Amino acid sequence: MSANSAFHIAVLAGDGIGPEVMAPALEVLRRIEARSGLKFRFTDAPAGASHYRETGKSMPDSTIRLCEEADAILLGACGLPSVRYPDNTEIAPQIELRFHFDLYAGVRPARLIPGVSSPIVGADARGIDLVVIRESTEGLFASMGKGVVTDSEARETLVITRKTSERLFEFSFRLAERRKARGRGHGGLTCVDKANVFKAFAFFREMFDEAARRHPAVKADRVYVDACAAMLVKRPWDFDVMVTENMFGDILSDLTAGLIGGMGMAPSADIGDRHAVFQPCHGTAPDIMGQGKANPTAMILSAAMMLDWLADRHGVESAADAAERIERAVDKVYADGIKPIEFGGRNGTDDVARAVLAAL
Ligand code: ATP
Repeated sequence: MSANSAFHIAVLAGDGIGPEVMAPALEVLRRIEARSGLKFRFTDAPAGASHYRETGKSMPDSTIRLCEEADAILLGACGLPSVRYPDNTEIAPQIELRFHFDLYAGVRPARLIPGVSSPIVGADARGIDLVVIRESTEGLFASMGKGVVTDSEARETLVITRKTSERLFEFSFRLAERRKARGRGHGGLTCVDKANVFKAFAFFREMFDEAARRHPAVKADRVYVDACAAMLVKRPWDFDVMVTENMFGDILSDLTAGLIGGMGMAPSADIGDRHAVFQPCHGTAPDIMGQGKANPTAMILSAAMMLDWLADRHGVESAADAAERIERAVDKVYADGIKPIEFGGRNGTDDVARAVLAAL
């Protein structure tokens, strides 16, 4: 926070529908600013496939410097299938930021907003309000770009370190405690692994158990990832906060996004000890870009997550209240019957954005 107490936010709108969903999220934050004592300073910066096409770099050094200086980073979505590195991989500054800033905790909340239908029978009545915390810097992704492929076999190596796991579990237990304190969830944390088959996951679970002893107020559970997948589609309301390895989290968090309606509803954050990036779970959706069809809800909810993180980090309770106000406004809009094009409805980006602003 700067001397005049404004939160400095780096804004990386990105590619495809990224800028289309970023604009309403910024409008929502400006409305919050007008109605609360909070102040924001937004600085736009380039990143993504379009920037790569023009310059040969996924983002300039000035973007990294801005992200270092800012209090938080808001990101639309980056990458386009038609723009690729020479090795054919997509331009993904979001992954580079994760490693650069050591953003080990990928926070992926899945809350079923009343009025949005879930594919899970009974979810409308029971509700879903869970958070998947996906370790985001190691696990199987530590092998990214380092796999070895010969004619006869391919190998990738999974890495679990004590340094990252301990911070990840500490973060997860704190989140479970914080949610309970704010009346969300039942104060539970589930470790999702495959400790019955792999030594690396037995090591992961051992460190989880150690952290659990430091947080006796949180109900700590352990479950194997395969069983977890089945439980998530049968009784997702039984879960509160879940913590898992990178690849398992990659898969489970898409599954949980599916439980609450779709990609356009799922916000996310990549959080480290000092920095954090807030972005929707979805990608740049090139199939609908430029048509006003994108659902901005996930981006707006990601902005709310940013406020909650800033509140916790800087001890500014009014920012947590503002985050709740945004969530309540989104809830009201869906309770009133808005139906984004994403769900076969008629409401495009502008309709959803205007309705959320009106509800605020
Ligand atoms: P990535 O690999 O970057 O995640 P992807 O192609 O796997 O990209 P998305 O870009 O998220 O995934 O798109 C998946 C599908 O979901 C597409 O059909 C897209 O139109 C749709 N989609 C994604 N986000 C939204 C949104 N905010 N509103 C409406 N539809 C969306």
